[in-house]
Amino acid sequence: MYIGIDIGGTTIKGVLTNGDGDMLAFKKIPTGKTPSEIENCLIELIRALSAARGQGPSAVRAIGVGSAGSIDRTRGMVLTSPNIPALQKFPLIKTIERRTGVRAFLENDATVAVIGEWWKGAGRKYSNWIMLTLGTGIGGGVVIENRVYTGQSGSAMEVGHTSIDYRGRRCPCGGTGCLELYASATGLMRYARSVIGKHSGSSLTARIKKEKLDPRMIEEEALRGDALSLHIYTQVSTWLGIGVANLVNIFNPEAIVFGGGLSRAHRLIFPVVKKTVHERVMAGLDHNVKYLIIRDQEKAPALGAARMAMDALIK
Ligand SMILES: [Zn+2]
Repeated sequence: MYIGIDIGGTTIKGVLTNGDGDMLAFKKIPTGKTPSEIENCLIELIRALSAARGQGPSAVRAIGVGSAGSIDRTRGMVLTSPNIPALQKFPLIKTIERRTGVRAFLENDATVAVIGEWWKGAGRKYSNWIMLTLGTGIGGGVVIENRVYTGQSGSAMEVGHTSIDYRGRRCPCGGTGCLELYASATGLMRYARSVIGKHSGSSLTARIKKEKLDPRMIEEEALRGDALSLHIYTQVSTWLGIGVANLVNIFNPEAIVFGGGLSRAHRLIFPVVKKTVHERVMAGLDHNVKYLIIRDQEKAPALGAARMAMDALIK
């Protein structure tokens, strides 16, 4: 059996799986605030997962951990993590190994999410595909010839920080016109706020007098035919399409798998992205490109972390 753990800013999720990727148990707990709280959360989660099959941690062959932020795999440590500051410089892997007696391995969250989709998700059927996560920012991953490509130090596919406008907004990363400033959930909200006051007849404008604006509300009003809400999604999807067109020109993928909160609105997003990609890529490159969404967003990264640990053990 293997355990995979996905450490996020608000929840830590874990799965227990066998070598074939059959999920034997799934559990989640809120992320602790201090290093010792996080340590206790992790140990509790590992114990609960192995107990789900009536066993202790010693029945687990390896534990894989995916974490947000930049990581040092060899030292098993998170170097910087804006969303989980308590993890910074914390000896994560050493601590897990010391307290459970099980070998553990660290990878970044985007990579384990791709591995999860590659192993058991939408990417299973394809050899060359891209994953894009549309959340607070935009994350990415790529599978080339059936192998997850991670680059020199594991940081490949920072798609959110590729530029779609060299005169555009300044990004905290130091770049200008980064895709995630426009086409993430954050970008959608920013654009919505900039146009919302200018359209008095809109049902969205009426709703925000009583409710707090969020991407879901804009999606609901767009699906009901509100022109302003449709315009917001069309604009954001056009920006996203420009970024996707660049990726299609570079990778010539068979499929693009979308995840993250904003991918819920795929019925609004996909048609515009496809049209924009078609207008911008080299002729024929977008033929037969499949647009898919992650089936099980909650479990895929943890499952990918388990597979990563399985492979690391063999190496
Ligand atoms: Zn940037």
